[in-house]
Amino acid sequence: MNRKKEVFVFIGPPGSGKGSLSNYCTDKLGWKQLSTGFLCRKNITENTEIGKQIDFAIKSGKLISDGLIISMVEDWLLNNGAQFEIAILDGFPRTVKQAEALDHLINNKIKDCVLRVVRLFISDEVIVQRLAARLICGNSDCQSIYSSLPVSALMPERGMKCDKCHSALTRRPDDEINSVKERLKIYHNHEKILLDYYRDYGLSINEVNVEKPLKDVFEDFQILLNNNK
Ligand code: AMP
Repeated sequence: MNRKKEVFVFIGPPGSGKGSLSNYCTDKLGWKQLSTGFLCRKNITENTEIGKQIDFAIKSGKLISDGLIISMVEDWLLNNGAQFEIAILDGFPRTVKQAEALDHLINNKIKDCVLRVVRLFISDEVIVQRLAARLICGNSDCQSIYSSLPVSALMPERGMKCDKCHSALTRRPDDEINSVKERLKIYHNHEKILLDYYRDYGLSINEVNVEKPLKDVFEDFQILLNNNK
């Protein structure tokens, strides 16, 4: 019997560790990942037409248009749909319109696929501290995440260089405090509506407390996966 494909949706505020948890799933569990934020930043660094259109919105912490993001995700799912058993959408959907578009794609274009929703929760105070210390690899194909907090498991090993590709580490312009406040405001405006949308759809929401050291978050996530088997 064919196993159904699974698409995981991670819903969590900026800085909640969606990317770190996604990396764990790709490295340790062999899942596929699409990060819409990664794709947006790559377009900006490479100065593509899309990059020029979205540069200002991203730096100021705003969402970019549903149409543009939905077409990015659609392209990715249609190109990669045949190659994964389990995939994570990191940072998508962020609005109900995006959630509706995803349902349409999953129901009509990808055969035998189930959606799983995971909510990552953490306080705004901890997010502000984390993002003030967040570093990112400046190589647009890498974009690995680090932290300058000495207590963090994400401290880079060699000063301001990426452990993986040795490119210089930098800060994301949207991790500047005013953009962070804007991103948190937008997230909180959409979170409840999005979760209600999925509950009304009959899906259960898996909750993970991410205000913990990463290794504990990974353990909790693994337990959640085992309980859902
Ligand atoms: P992230 O890396 O997930 O924090 O995303 C960085 C930025 O990319 C966001 O603040 C938005 O400007 C943009 N972005 C990423 N995903 C989406 C999305 N699903 N809808 C709209 N904008 C997005």
